[in-house]
Amino acid sequence: MSSRQSSTSTNMLFHPKTQSSLFLVKAAIRFKYTLANCCKPIPGDDVFGFITATEGLKIHRTSCPNAARLLANYGHRVVKTKWAKNKDIAFLTGIKIIGLDDVGVINKITNIISGDMRININALTIESRDGLFEGNIKVYVHDKEELNELVSRLKNLRGIQTVDRFEPEENK
Ligand SMILES: [Zn+2]
Repeated sequence: MSSRQSSTSTNMLFHPKTQSSLFLVKAAIRFKYTLANCCKPIPGDDVFGFITATEGLKIHRTSCPNAARLLANYGHRVVKTKWAKNKDIAFLTGIKIIGLDDVGVINKITNIISGDMRININALTIESRDGLFEGNIKVYVHDKEELNELVSRLKNLRGIQTVDRFEPEENK
């Protein structure tokens, strides 16, 4: 237990039902993990790890719709997790924008995202109805700070009514 070079600090309380003994492991270990599809966490989100039967450690947001059920029923599989600082990896997340369907508004939005902030766009769909548009944009951000900055810049655009994060589904 001396992998100190790792920057992910994890407190782990794990007592499988099949064993009567209780293991308490408290160490800095870099786990392999996957991000849960139900809530698509990005660095900076409050998260917890959940040890699954078949897929190893999954990271959920504490605001995940499944969080309460997981914590209540499988507390012994829950692992406290913190994000390591890592600016090299970008995470896919989604933002939904609703606003007045103005000429040039889509241009202004993409200018802010890829021009000003140099954030990569993965997909973009726009629907217009009754003078309003709804834009769903999937972007790669590095952390929550960057996402918050993007959201507040978009909110400052004229005619924009709401900007909300959503969890993109990979295969749509
Ligand atoms: Zn989740």
